[in-house]
Amino acid sequence: MSGSNASLFERALRVIPGGVNSPVRAFGSVGGTPYFVERGEGPYVWDAEGRRYIDYVQSYGPGILGHAHPVIVEAVACAAGDGTSFGAPTEAEVILAEMVVDRITGLDSVRFVSSGTEATMSAIRLARGATGRSRIVKFAGCYHGHSDALLAAGGSGVANQGLTGCDGVTDGAVADTVVAPYNVVPELDDTVAAVIVEPVAANMGLVAPAPGFLEGLRTACDAVGALLIFDEVITGFRLARGGATDFFGVMPDLWCFGKVIGGGLPVGAFGGGTDLMSNLAPIGGVYQAGTLSGNPLAMAAGRATLELLDDDAYRRLTSTAESLAGGLTEAFTAAGLTCVLPRVGSLLGVFFGQPRPVDFDEAQLLAENGLYPRIFHALLERGVALAPGAYEALFPSIAHDEAVVDETVSIAADAAAAVASDLL
Ligand SMILES: *Cc1c(COP(=O)(O)O)cnc(C)c1O
Repeated sequence: MSGSNASLFERALRVIPGGVNSPVRAFGSVGGTPYFVERGEGPYVWDAEGRRYIDYVQSYGPGILGHAHPVIVEAVACAAGDGTSFGAPTEAEVILAEMVVDRITGLDSVRFVSSGTEATMSAIRLARGATGRSRIVKFAGCYHGHSDALLAAGGSGVANQGLTGCDGVTDGAVADTVVAPYNVVPELDDTVAAVIVEPVAANMGLVAPAPGFLEGLRTACDAVGALLIFDEVITGFRLARGGATDFFGVMPDLWCFGKVIGGGLPVGAFGGGTDLMSNLAPIGGVYQAGTLSGNPLAMAAGRATLELLDDDAYRRLTSTAESLAGGLTEAFTAAGLTCVLPRVGSLLGVFFGQPRPVDFDEAQLLAENGLYPRIFHALLERGVALAPGAYEALFPSIAHDEAVVDETVSIAADAAAAVASDLL
C-alpha cells in the first residue's frame, strides 16, 4: 500500500497543479480529499486505503466494459509486445477505421487523434477550411474539450470550477464562437461554418434533446450551407452501436468520437463523408497531425472494445440504466429528496430538485443548490463513487450487473436517509 489518500494528495499538490491532471478530480466542487485509485476491476475501484467503491465514474465514459476487462488487458499486452509506436501506418488503424465506418451511417472516412479535445478542435478546423467560413455555433452547457475556441460556456469541466470563462483564452480566440441555448434551434446565416452539438448533452448533468431539436439543426444548417457536427465523444458507441445517428435518425456532416472508442486508452477520432474528409492533409489544405495518432496500443484497445459491444451489450447497458434510474429515484424519493434522473437509452444523469432541466440555465439551478455534494459524500462513505461534480453523467458499464445495481440502490437509500435527516 502506497499511503493514505490524504498523504498522496499532499505529495501530489507539491508537484502537480492542484494535485491533479484534470480539474474535476480535485473534488473542488464537492469538497474533501480525492481518493487515489490503486486498481480497478469490473464495476469496482479500490483506493490507496484499500476501500472498495462501486464506480460510476469509469473514466467519464471510456470504461464501458468496466475496469481491466480481461480481453482488453490481453489485447493491449499483446500489442505492446510488438512495439508501442512507429510513426508509420499499421493495419490496426485500418481495422479500427473499418469498424467505425461500418457502424456509423454516412461516415466514410475517419482520422484518429489522441483525445476528444483534438477531435473537436480538428473537426472545427476542417469545417472552417471546407466552407471558407469562420463562425461556429455551440450550445451553452455542451462541453467539447478544452481548445480555446470551444471553451465558451463549456459545461462540466468549466462549470465545476465555477468559472464563466477561462483566463488565457483571448477575445480573438472566441470572437467567432457564438453560444446559443441548448434545445432551441438558432438563427443561422451564411457566415456560419458549423454548428457543433452534443446530440444528448452529457456535460451539464444529462439533458435530452427536445423532440425536433436535432432535426431542426439539420434543416437550419442545410438552409445556409453550414455543416452540422455531432460531438459524440460520450454518445458514440454508447447510445447505440451506430451512436446518435442510429438512435435519433439524424445525420450530421462530421462526427467526433473519444472515450469509448479508445477502450480506456487515449483515442479520439473525427470523420465524415469522403469529399469533406478529403480537405484534410495530405490530400487537402487543412493540416492536422499527431505523433501518437493511431497508436497501436490504443487501436488494439479500441478494436477489442467495439468487438465486445454487440447488440446484447447495448440491451444490457440500457436495462442497467433503466434499473438504476428507477431504483435510485425510489431510494431518494423515499427519503424525501426530490430528484430527476434523466435517461436517454443507456445514458443516465441525476439532478436533485425539480423540474427536469432542458438547458444549461435550468441545469445550473439544480447543480448549484448544494444537494449534490452532500449526497455525493454520503454515497462515497458507503462505497458508491459518483463523479465529484454535479454536471457529470453516471457511467454504468456492462460489468454493473443486477447484483451491483441492487447494492447501489440499497446504499443510496441509506445515504439519502442520512442526508435527509441532516437537512432537518
Ligand atoms: C470528454 C469530452 C470531450 C473531450 O474529450 P477529452 O478526451 O477529455 O479531450 C469532448 N466532447 C465531449 C462531449 C466530452 O464529453
